[in-house]
Amino acid sequence: MNRRNFIQMAGIAAGFSATSFSVLARAGEILPKKGRRVVVVGGGYGGTIVSKYIRMSDPSIEVVMIERNKTFVSCPFSNLVIGGSRDLKDNMITYDKLAEKHGIQVVYDEVTGIDVAAKQVKVGAGTISYDRLVLSPGIDFRFDELEGYDPVETPKYMPHAWKAGEQTLRLRKQLVDMADGGTVVLSVPVTPFRCPPGPYERISQIAWHLKNHKPKSKIIVLDANPDIVSKGPLFKKAWEKHYKGMIEFHASNKVTKVDHKAMSVDTGVEEVKGAVINVVPPQKAGAVAYMAGVVGEDKKWCPVNQTTFESSIVPNVHVIGDACSAGAMPKSGYSANSQAKVCALNVVQLMNGKDPIPPSHVNVCYSYVTDKEAISVSAVYKVAEGKTIAVPNSGGVSPDLSELEGVYAHSWIKNILHEMSS
Ligand SMILES: Cc1cc2nc3c(=O)[nH]c(=O)nc-3n(C[C@H](O)[C@H](O)[C@H](O)COP(=O)(O)OP(=O)(O)OC[C@H]3O[C@@H](n4cnc5c(N)ncnc54)[C@H](O)[C@@H]3O)c2cc1C
Repeated sequence: MNRRNFIQMAGIAAGFSATSFSVLARAGEILPKKGRRVVVVGGGYGGTIVSKYIRMSDPSIEVVMIERNKTFVSCPFSNLVIGGSRDLKDNMITYDKLAEKHGIQVVYDEVTGIDVAAKQVKVGAGTISYDRLVLSPGIDFRFDELEGYDPVETPKYMPHAWKAGEQTLRLRKQLVDMADGGTVVLSVPVTPFRCPPGPYERISQIAWHLKNHKPKSKIIVLDANPDIVSKGPLFKKAWEKHYKGMIEFHASNKVTKVDHKAMSVDTGVEEVKGAVINVVPPQKAGAVAYMAGVVGEDKKWCPVNQTTFESSIVPNVHVIGDACSAGAMPKSGYSANSQAKVCALNVVQLMNGKDPIPPSHVNVCYSYVTDKEAISVSAVYKVAEGKTIAVPNSGGVSPDLSELEGVYAHSWIKNILHEMSS
């Protein structure tokens, strides 16, 4: 049968029989399965690690990792790029070694659909079948909650830079171009969002840049939360020590409206104008989670079994990283890394007919308050009665701001990016 006959037959079958979907789907299958297969969507903090650890735990399982970009740009340490003490190139990794060393089949494409009944993922080039699917798509934004926000136009004037890349560089350039004496406005959304200490690290980095280059300038922070949501006392201490009088912090001030032409934001109580405005929009799970139907009743995040990370809604689909709800664990790169290892282990257990193994997780989040001084928060997590909780007395915050924490932070980013790309 030649290709044209086959497509014609598939078309006829589509009209008449219940098997039509599978006939059509096979016509578009771009990587025919050779054995048991896990498909991973996303090549970020969670996706790279789950792919690698499945292959290391059981090399008889095929792993296909689908990622839209050939280069991954890390959000951790991107605030230093905005502050001016790091090059964005140092935040980039590629996937060549991951593929070479671990036999992961990396597909560079956009996932545009997921058929959980047929166990197929749709990409631009066709379909890819799976036995189990792991989603680590990160976040998308709830732009609809910000009146006047145009997802295409607004970031050109007010980059959010909450996915590292081109917007990180744009925000940096705006700060460099701003006249001394200008006002920078930064808004923080209601939790939960990606990287709880991230906005406050960014405020510190912007303040560091202003202090050194535009000392007559100031930062107005409009925080939708009642207080700084992570490492509050340490950030306040750092701002007092290094940036006294430069940061105006307004708690419980939620931005509800933006106007990029007027360069203003509105909290419903007052309108604030800025020369540079960084609105961090409210967030939700990445779009592929919605395609797979694994988003929970809150319509934002994905409920999962806390031991296996299998969706509580759709069997054979696992969700890790920012997109999932993981109890007390924050939405961080380190959490995604830890969840990926647990998920990999238990996917292998399940595919080999064995019982899942109860997890122990770890998370440490470093934040730079100058170019060298940093602070940190850490915890160990376990599952108790189906919920992920912090192990009592297992963590806490660093005793103070210090350059030594900065040294630890550099070691952390070096190691975690190396682990993701080798
Ligand atoms: C400013 C900032 C600072 C941060 N600092 C830290 C820190 O110091 N420490 C820390 O631990 N965490 C930090 N984080 C948080 C960290 O970036 C996230 O928690 C982490 O990236 C989550 O990993 P993930 O795998 O869920 O998503 P990501 O790492 O974002 O990976 C998702 C991947 O999926 C791909 N993808 C999504 N949809 C599709 C699709 N349809 N088709 C193909 N590919 C797709 C994306 O291209 C992306 O590569 C920071 C975040 C920000 C914004």
